[in-house]
Amino acid sequence: MKKRVAVIGAGPSGLAQLRAFQSAKAKGAEIPEIVCFEKQGDWGGLWNYTWRTGLDEYGEPVHCSMYRYLWTNGPKEGLEFADYSFEEHFGKQIASYPPRAVMVDYIEGRVKKAGVRPWIRFRHPVRFVKYNEAKGNFTVTAHDLVKDSMYEEEFDHVICASGHFSTPNVPEYPGFDRFNGRVLHAHDFRDAREFKGKDLLLLGSSYSAEDIGSQCWKYGAKSITVAYRNAPMGFDWPDNWKEVPALARVDEDTAYFTDGTSKKVDAIILCTGYKHHFPFLPDNLRLKTANRLATADLYKGVVYVHNPKMFYLGMQDQWFTFNMFDAQAWWVRDAILGRIALPTDKATMLKDVEARVAGEDAGQDAHDAIHYQGDYVKELIAETDYPSFDVDGACEAFFEWKDHKKDDIMAFRNHAYRSVITGTMAPVHHTPWKDALEDSMESYLRN
Ligand SMILES: Cc1cc2nc3c(=O)[nH]c(=O)nc-3n(C[C@H](O)[C@H](O)[C@H](O)COP(=O)(O)OP(=O)(O)OC[C@H]3O[C@@H](n4cnc5c(N)ncnc54)[C@H](O)[C@@H]3O)c2cc1C
Repeated sequence: MKKRVAVIGAGPSGLAQLRAFQSAKAKGAEIPEIVCFEKQGDWGGLWNYTWRTGLDEYGEPVHCSMYRYLWTNGPKEGLEFADYSFEEHFGKQIASYPPRAVMVDYIEGRVKKAGVRPWIRFRHPVRFVKYNEAKGNFTVTAHDLVKDSMYEEEFDHVICASGHFSTPNVPEYPGFDRFNGRVLHAHDFRDAREFKGKDLLLLGSSYSAEDIGSQCWKYGAKSITVAYRNAPMGFDWPDNWKEVPALARVDEDTAYFTDGTSKKVDAIILCTGYKHHFPFLPDNLRLKTANRLATADLYKGVVYVHNPKMFYLGMQDQWFTFNMFDAQAWWVRDAILGRIALPTDKATMLKDVEARVAGEDAGQDAHDAIHYQGDYVKELIAETDYPSFDVDGACEAFFEWKDHKKDDIMAFRNHAYRSVITGTMAPVHHTPWKDALEDSMESYLRN
């Protein structure tokens, strides 16, 4: 009997897995039957935008955490697929920080070409996965939302690619219940225009605070106040943008900070991060990890040490994204195909995890972290036939990007970088980011 493999999620990680198996098949390999369960109506994961927040039309939690006017927050040269360049997709080199719609087109292009859509069951959230000790396989319970029918199927392997930037971490502060404006998490932020002319308070000091604040600034917020818990982001912000120490409490219209200062605000956006959340997995299969580069309990960052027939993709915190998911997907494919042998004992796998954690902990700064993750990508691709590419060159693009942000946080997206896949230089975009209020694909691709 042919092996069966379940992939949970058709975001960039799950799609990388489908493409990995398809590429082996195209080279003549015998591959297992692949079933990809996707709870949304289309592929793309977080990049699949919806105006909805809360629950979708089937009562499922909305997965999307992206918003209108989102442009990539790092250069596309750091994430380019090694087997499908931007130039191959668009027929020309394009500028370095594409808006979300352009990215969706690119993500789709590769999997359309691979012809893997029939492997995906859309609107089929996985409700539960059980490991059958006696049979040495898994029972997956899925819900066909359209037919409103639950069913079970057996698989030899399960690959969890359900993402970890969708279930919000929502803290509570004294006074939230009497604040007169809106309090929302970044997950539910959809359109910066809503906050035009408003005084905004954002909590957090990572990408969400930086980017949502920048969007709101770009689309006309009156002021941005960002409260940090540990350290400020420290960029050279515009005049109407201030970073302040942690929030202590709010009343009807004012936020009070731990340094004794206060600010009248109209709305509060909690940019307080996300949780690794797998409500469909039992204790013996569920990954429990902090959001870090070296996750807990994953040998090679992908094999679940407590049950090595189960794999996870994309569970790391991310400098590298699409090409790292590819590196992982090709590696997992080869482990399943028997081309890569896994250690036979848990202790060896746990040692690997320990070494990765120690390697990350030894780093001093973001520079080290980028190298650390770049080395991980290199390690995995060296063990498969994923097209090798200049990972150090991609690290260089990240370093330049960080410098550009330091120089001018509202202008870093105006820079261009060289593709490490095709070697060509991206053009400088025709309009500075802060002036490009219309960000459709047509407008972005115009020369
Ligand atoms: C606001 C925001 C901006 C970002 N910007 C960038 C950027 O500019 N550049 C970049 O490289 N990365 C960015 N990222 C990082 C992002 O994590 C990756 O780009 C990428 O989307 C991760 O892919 P994934 O497939 O691992 O997870 P996701 O994209 O989260 O996809 C997971 C998929 O699994 C499905 N799923 C979940 N649970 C189930 C279930 N029980 N059953 C069936 N299906 C399920 C979901 O519906 C979804 O389609 C951003 C993230 C956020 C939140």
